[in-house]
Amino acid sequence: MEHFIENDKQYVANTYGRFNVELVSGDGAEITDIDGKRYIDLGSGIAVNTFGVGDTEWKDAVIEQLNLIQHTSNLYYTKPCVELAELLCEKAKMKKVFFGNSGAEANECAIKTARKYYSDRHEGKEGKIITLQNSFHGRTITTLSATGQDVFHKDFGPFTEGFEFVPANDCEALKKAVGPDTAAVMIELVQGEGGVNALSQEFVNCIKLESQKYGFLIIADEVQTGNGRTGKYFACEHFGLNPDIITTAKGLGGGLPIGACLFGEKTEFTLGSGDHGSTFGGNPVVSAGAVSIVKRIDERLLKEVTEKSDYIKSELLKVNGVKSVSGLGLMLGIETEKPARELANKALEKGVLVLTAKQKLRLLPPLNITMKQLDKAMKILKEIIEE
Ligand SMILES: *Cc1c(COP(=O)(O)O)cnc(C)c1O
Repeated sequence: MEHFIENDKQYVANTYGRFNVELVSGDGAEITDIDGKRYIDLGSGIAVNTFGVGDTEWKDAVIEQLNLIQHTSNLYYTKPCVELAELLCEKAKMKKVFFGNSGAEANECAIKTARKYYSDRHEGKEGKIITLQNSFHGRTITTLSATGQDVFHKDFGPFTEGFEFVPANDCEALKKAVGPDTAAVMIELVQGEGGVNALSQEFVNCIKLESQKYGFLIIADEVQTGNGRTGKYFACEHFGLNPDIITTAKGLGGGLPIGACLFGEKTEFTLGSGDHGSTFGGNPVVSAGAVSIVKRIDERLLKEVTEKSDYIKSELLKVNGVKSVSGLGLMLGIETEKPARELANKALEKGVLVLTAKQKLRLLPPLNITMKQLDKAMKILKEIIEE
């Protein structure tokens, strides 16, 4: 195969700081580049490839549906999206699902729903949505407006109105910000792009109490934390939180684009016919693949996720130059003395794919990575961090 980095630089928009590697194929948690060099993948395409590359069950499900019908439109009923919705509602104890194609779209749906829920109850008035500083909710103008990080805002105004930010884990600030004009509080239970930081239980309790007081909705953005990533199906289970809306995407499709917005008792009837839509949303091929993913995220797998997480944490905390390890399950952030991006490049050279988030190394391995692969990857990380 011919190299294609130069053509990429010429023809693909320069929006990504790509690593200097051309990936071609893979198997589970191992990926092969154009020169045949193998890597252990601790990123899973940013928490997307839940069961790694080339997962047989997922491929079979996708191909089976591909042979039936690849797309209809949302004007007709198709089975895979119904099956997926039912499964998700069971897992999350929610009532209904709207399907889109990405995390940002799932959050757009959540924001529209929260606004309409408020409007329905306040004679058409507009409610505001509180999100957290350092959050990440997407790249569309509205989800960007909801994102509490100035680095992403620069140059893209004007923004969608109606969002206010409070510092994470600051109950007093939250209490000051919320009131009768609040439509919703939107949170990531573990802030991913913001540096892999879990919220405190006290803060989550504080949001719950304030929500009972004012009647605003709680939206959990589980785009990254959902689908088993943190050792529970949804991260809100760690906190005893029952959100009114849950959004998820990344790992749900096992590698194909999908986003889902899940509605609880309060919100299941908020959106009606014509209120929202998506041409590709609930696509049968993508949904069939997602069904095969969701079905396998069971207690046994979740226990494995937690065990692997404990193993990674204990190995890394022994390493000189590791200052802290944060996160939940297989969503971990490593604070190191050396700059993270430099370490990520070194890891790549030595055959390990890792990500960064803010000043940290970020690990999001496929949930089915083997202990042997993990062990090998940890040895390499130890080497480069201590070097
Ligand atoms: C990745 C991410 C998004 C955006 O998802 P896209 O599929 O890139 O639109 C939103 N929220 C969180 C928490 C994310 O991690």
